[in-house]
Formats: sequence, C-alpha cells, structure tokens
Amino acid sequence: MSEQSEAIVIGAGLGGLSAAARLAKAGRKVLVLEQSSGPGGYAHGRYHDDYYFDFSLHSMDGVAPGGWAYLTLKQLGVLDRVRFERLDPYYHAYYPDHKIVAHANPFAYESELIRLFPDDANGLRSLFDEMMAIYRDAHRGRVDHALERYPTPEEMLELHPAIIRGVRESWADMMARHIRNSQLKAIVSAQWIYGGLAPSRMNAAAVALLWSSAHYFGGFYPHGGSMAINRALENIIREGGGDILYGHRVTRVHVKDGLATGVSTNQGLEATAKVFVSNANAPDTLLKLVGTEQLPSGYTNRVKVTPLSLSSFNVYLGLDRDLTTEYDLPHDVLIADDYDPEKQYEAIQNGDWDKVPYMMVHTKRTNPESAPEGKAAVTIMCLAPWSYCNTWGTDGNLENYSENAAYQDLKETVAALLIDRAEQHVPGLRDAICIKDIATPLTNARYTLNRGGSIYGFEQSSEHMYLGRLNEETPVDNLFLAGAWTLPGGPISRVALGIRWRWSLPPVSGQQTT
Ligand SMILES: Cc1cc2nc3c(=O)[nH]c(=O)nc-3n(C[C@H](O)[C@H](O)[C@H](O)COP(=O)(O)OP(=O)(O)OC[C@H]3O[C@@H](n4cnc5c(N)ncnc54)[C@H](O)[C@@H]3O)c2cc1C
Repeated sequence: MSEQSEAIVIGAGLGGLSAAARLAKAGRKVLVLEQSSGPGGYAHGRYHDDYYFDFSLHSMDGVAPGGWAYLTLKQLGVLDRVRFERLDPYYHAYYPDHKIVAHANPFAYESELIRLFPDDANGLRSLFDEMMAIYRDAHRGRVDHALERYPTPEEMLELHPAIIRGVRESWADMMARHIRNSQLKAIVSAQWIYGGLAPSRMNAAAVALLWSSAHYFGGFYPHGGSMAINRALENIIREGGGDILYGHRVTRVHVKDGLATGVSTNQGLEATAKVFVSNANAPDTLLKLVGTEQLPSGYTNRVKVTPLSLSSFNVYLGLDRDLTTEYDLPHDVLIADDYDPEKQYEAIQNGDWDKVPYMMVHTKRTNPESAPEGKAAVTIMCLAPWSYCNTWGTDGNLENYSENAAYQDLKETVAALLIDRAEQHVPGLRDAICIKDIATPLTNARYTLNRGGSIYGFEQSSEHMYLGRLNEETPVDNLFLAGAWTLPGGPISRVALGIRWRWSLPPVSGQQTT
C-alpha cells in the first residue's frame, strides 16, 4: 500500500486536525494518519447508551473575536459549522468558606472579590490589569509576527514589557507583588488545574493569558460537544481534497539528508510527502519515529529531560435524575477543600484523593442532548500522577492492564472517593448513578499515546513555557510539531491555533492578521 501527498499529518487530535484543515484550505493535498478509531485525541467524545461524554473538554477560551483561536476557527469555517455557547457564569468555585461565582462579566467577578476582600481591592485591580497587559502584549506580538516583523530582544523589552516579565516569573511571585490574602490568592488561582502546576511553579504569563482570555472574552462550550468541532474539521479537510485514515499508527518517519521523505504505519502503509506535521507526542515523534541518530544530541537531550505535565483521573456518570437542574448547577464547578494550591499539588502527587481539588462538569444545559429528558450527564475530574501506586497497581506492566485486578480495585476506590466528595455538594448523586465509566492516566496513554498520560504535553513551568518550549520547527527541515507539546502549549484554544510554518504556505484566503 502506498500513498503520495503534499503533506502528511500524524495524529488527528485538535492540533493535527486544525493543521490539516489549514493545509487543505490552502489547496494542499493532505493525508492525516491517526492511530485510534476516531478523531479528536483527548478532545474525543462518545455516547454511552443515551449519555454523551466529552473525554476532556469542559470549556474553551479564545473563541470570540479578540480570542486566540478566533481567526483560525473563522478562516477555516469552523465558526459557520459549530455553535459555541458562552458559559454564563463562566464557573463556580467552592471553598470551605466561600462559594465564588466567576461571572461571565469580569468586572462583576472582580467586584465580588473586592466585596469579599476589601483590603486587597487595589492590589486585585492592579493584578488583573497586569494580566490584561500581558494578554495585550501577546496579541501585539502575534500581529507583529503575522506581519513578519520580528523585534530584537531589546525592542521586545520596550514594546512588550508585561509579557517579557510574565514569561520569566512564577504565578505565585506575580500574585505576591499585588495581593496579600492567601484565601484570595487561592481563589484567583482557582483554575490552576488547567495549567497542571502549583502557583509556585506555574508560569505567570501562561496563567495571565488563559485567565484574561477566558474571563474577558469568554469560556465556551460547543453545541454537540467536542465531536462537533472534530466533525467540522474532518469535513473541511475532506472538502479540500484531503484524506483521513483511522487505525494507522505511524511507526517511522523516514529521514534522508536532513529531510523527511515518508512514513510507515502499522498497517503496512508507506506514504510520501513534501511536508510532515506531527501531532503525536513530541518525545515519541522525535526520539522514536524520527530517531536520535537524525537529530543533534543537544536537542534530543533536551527532549529527554524536559518534565511532562500531570495526567488526569475522570469519572463519567450518567444520572437517572436531572440533579444538575434540580440544584441549578452551572456547567463547571471547581471544588477545593482548602485554600492552599501548593498543598493540593502535593496531594495530587501523593494520590491523597480526599485532599485533591476536583471539577464537576454538567452539560445538560449547554448540550441538552448529553442526556435524555429528566436525566443528566456529569463528569468529575482531577489531576493525577502516572506513577501512583506503582503505575496504578500494574508494576509498569501495561499489557492488558485494564484486566489487572489491582488496577481495577484502585480505579474503583479512587472513583468512589471522588463520588463521595461530590455527594457532599450534590446530595443524591450516588443513588442517581445509572452509568459509570472511569478513565485513569493509563487510559489517557492508551487512547492518545501521550507519554505518562500527560494532558498538557511538557510541563508549563517558567522554564518550559514560551522561550523554553520546543518550537514547532524541528531539526528535520520539513517536519513540524503541532499541539500541546509545542508552542504555545496548553489548552485546546492554543492547540488549535495552527502553526506558523516558515515553509511557503500561502495565506488562507481572506487571511487577516488581527
Ligand atoms: C481530562 C482532560 C480535561 C481537559 N480539559 C480541558 C478543557 O476543559 N479545556 C481545554 O482547553 N483543554 C482541556 N484539556 C487539554 C486538552 O484536551 C489538550 O491540551 C488538547 O486536546 C491536546 O490536543 P493535541 O492535538 O495537542 O493532542 P492529542 O489530543 O493528544 O492528540 C494527539 C493525537 O495523535 C494521535 N497519535 C499519537 N501517536 C500517533 C502515531 N504514532 N500515529 C498516528 N497517530 C498518533 C493520538 O491518537 C491523538 O489522536 C483537558 C485534557 C484532559 C485529558
């Protein structure tokens, strides 16, 4: 079996699909090779009986005008095909002494926090202003880049001072320059789970960008869940003459004289192209598919030693009662039983499940088809380490791990504990459960092949974000990376931005830069 294309994309996660859609839209003959049986990678969704569950997506930022992904989604035509619902409120956050409503109106949210913490009013305002300044700097930088203006480091300091400071600082340090109250610090860090690192290690600019993007321009959920985005991108690729083959795991990227020439898959397919984009995890792409012999040793060492972000633990529940409407629950609720994210991060590392912060997602209102009339679908999610209890009771033996009794016991125990905790906020939850699925870090790795079941690629610390993150360009001139492992990293809106390839890709028709 052989195929010839202009471009090959390895992996149909949102990073791969959006890269392929851009290529197809630009008139390139593109072939997408995906190892699993469907699209989306982590952003996959599926029905269990009459209940729909997104594997990962709770909410995404960057969709509205001014947002990160807006132009890409608009130019590709995704916004004509998928209706995104702005979440209002954006989320609720529960703490021992506070129930915080993160209003869709950021000034109402700010005002609520000032009412609760009047002594920190000025500091809170200046913190939010600095975060917005980082957001503005980042957008200005993007426009500069799109217009092929590349300021020197000295010019950057002058032009974009807020982001230059933010990329070098931890989120904890940035907060400490503005506010003092530790409860307030915990509350404005409520979404730290989306970064995967405690405030002392999380990059300040990464927090500021996500925070400003979502609070000022909105958190969104697509009608039909993440599968609606996947289907739209699949259609755009196919309408542009591209093809997507599922069940094809790329086993090798062939390289000759510093250029990729083709790929082989586990189905015996040999495919050639001029350009290659890998949405597969970066360490495997570079160290296994390409091979260290093709890469400079400094580069491979860097790939080998960069720490991975945490993984996740998910419980997907179908309820035979619509408790979410009965309790008027918003789409997203973040719950922490204390005000110390540093300790919470430690609890995650140690698998202290009675102390980890967690989220509950209720899609009944945002996606009424997620459950039959009078019923509801709920997801409970927390961060989780790969290494917990000797790799979840498997001793590292992942063959048929899902049938391993120790693994099954552990995952049921952790799920039961999280359900018990959720029951305290949603009485009656346990008795209403008619469907239960559980996904551990091993499930993440099995379905997406992400190393360590990592959910944001390399960790998003100050050292490994922005200046310290792998570029989308690789030492193999015509091989590019797409997705969470590369710039700009992180959540879905950034993954779906598309790539700034330096090879001669003509602009998508009607391309704007702002
Ligand atoms: C539980 C959870 C909750 C999350 N919640 C949110 C949220 O609410 N909002 C948000 O914005 N982000 C969220 N995220 C993060 C977000 O889902 C990811 O950052 C994003 O989906 C990653 O997309 P990607 O394209 O980079 O990679 P992936 O989704 O990992 O896709 C990679 C694809 O490549 C394929 N692949 C790998 N190797 C090969 C190979 N050798 N050959 C062929 N194919 C291959 C995989 O099968 C996969 O389909 C969450 C993540 C998780 C796990």
